[in-house]
Amino acid sequence: MSRLGLFREIHRALNELDAMEGDSFLFLLDIDGFKSVNDTFGHPVGDEILIAFAQRIRDTIRSIDVAARLGGDEFAVLIRAANSKQHRHHIAAKTDRRWLIHGVHLHRGARLVAAAAEPFDLPTGRVIVTASEGIVQLTQEKGTADILRDADVAMYEAKSNGRNRLAFFEPILQQQVASRSRLEAELHNAIEKEEFVLHWQPTVHIGTGRTVGVEALLRWRHPTRGMLFPVDFINVAEDTGLIVRLGKWVLEQACRQGSAWQPIDLGRQLTISVNVSPHQIIDGHLCGYVRNALAESGLPATALILEITERTLMVNSPSIHQQLDELKQIGARLAIDDFGTGYSSLAYLRSFPIDIVKIDQSFVASLDEDERAVALVRSIVSIAEALGLDTVAEGVETPSQLASLRRLGCQVAQGHLYSPALSAEALIHYLHTGETVVPAPL
Ligand code: C2E
Ligand code: MG
Ligand code: MG
Repeated sequence: MSRLGLFREIHRALNELDAMEGDSFLFLLDIDGFKSVNDTFGHPVGDEILIAFAQRIRDTIRSIDVAARLGGDEFAVLIRAANSKQHRHHIAAKTDRRWLIHGVHLHRGARLVAAAAEPFDLPTGRVIVTASEGIVQLTQEKGTADILRDADVAMYEAKSNGRNRLAFFEPILQQQVASRSRLEAELHNAIEKEEFVLHWQPTVHIGTGRTVGVEALLRWRHPTRGMLFPVDFINVAEDTGLIVRLGKWVLEQACRQGSAWQPIDLGRQLTISVNVSPHQIIDGHLCGYVRNALAESGLPATALILEITERTLMVNSPSIHQQLDELKQIGARLAIDDFGTGYSSLAYLRSFPIDIVKIDQSFVASLDEDERAVALVRSIVSIAEALGLDTVAEGVETPSQLASLRRLGCQVAQGHLYSPALSAEALIHYLHTGETVVPAPL
């Protein structure tokens, strides 16, 4: 059914609510990361998946329900109340309504999500995708537009809870959407208003205890909410595309600051690590920004480390390869951040020009009590060694974690054991007086 047809059906279902026993719902389904499916496998494969998924939806629903494609990779299912009021039975009155809703309709909704996750066996090969689903109940006080908006809000909630799942609409989600749009608006002006600041976390050579570099970590001095951390705003910056402008600012600022620090520690050069979001690379201008930032600041390219995540490498398009190669030609180094948390693929290490592997802090945190974490770190380090890559352990908090890392052959560590992220002034102080942690004994 078409979009308009669905709107008409929702309108009719709303009008019939009074006369019907039972509840009506709208399920809104959106395929996760469909754009990258198209990018990776090509549009014909994307189209086949849409057709096959539509068929699966039809197979899942009852004849009185209505399915429609809303456009792109978005589908909707209207689950209509089955009985008129004469057939009223009393379970609903006796049972907690929410339980009923969550019982019966959770089941229907879950079947749709599961239907998407079944592999698609296409002539060109097997493709696996997932879908996220928002569910909203049709109620008297809502109009068709409200129903669609609320289903959308719930669907985004499902996505932000980790995709491949469903979420029911709750009024509180609407408030979250409102506060998110406020944050978005504020974020737009925050660069001009100079509300951002970089903090710096030292990275330390485990063997010598000397600081070898610093990682730039973004902070937002929010006018009313105080200091905000990336977790509070990076997602919004990414979703709105603002991350490209913000990332450019971080890069320029980090190079400028990094260049100013070089004379402080004569005899060695501090590396400057900058985090880069996938969007900044997909955007296509990163290499130009890097060249400019280096030229303007005078920071030697060899001092710059760009930290990318596995999410970037997963996009795996020729343009990503090209840009990473170009960054290498410029002379910068590339680190994989949070290694081991995403879709860690050894193929990434082979096919991309990576120099450094940053072992995620979740492994480091488990080193003391979990033998498997030890085994994993050991293998990451030995693979890195075999490929000639450096290893940096993130989130090192205790001397015994440090001792384990040292024993396992990890070269560089970063974490609260040495220092949290510091303001520029505090970092200078640290560089002059810090480095007090003696290297762990072997
Ligand atoms: P990341 O790059 O993996 O940075 C490490 C995070 O771990 C930082 O959090 C740091 O403060 C925290 N950390 C460091 N040592 C310890 C420790 O010993 N224990 C614990 N529990 N945590 C530790 P932060 O500053 O909140 O940054 C979080 C993430 O936000 C970063 O993870 C990075 O992915 C992202 N981020 C930060 N700045 C930028 C930026 O300028 N651009 C982009 N795109 N992302 C950024
Ligand atoms: Mg990082
Ligand atoms: Mg990390």
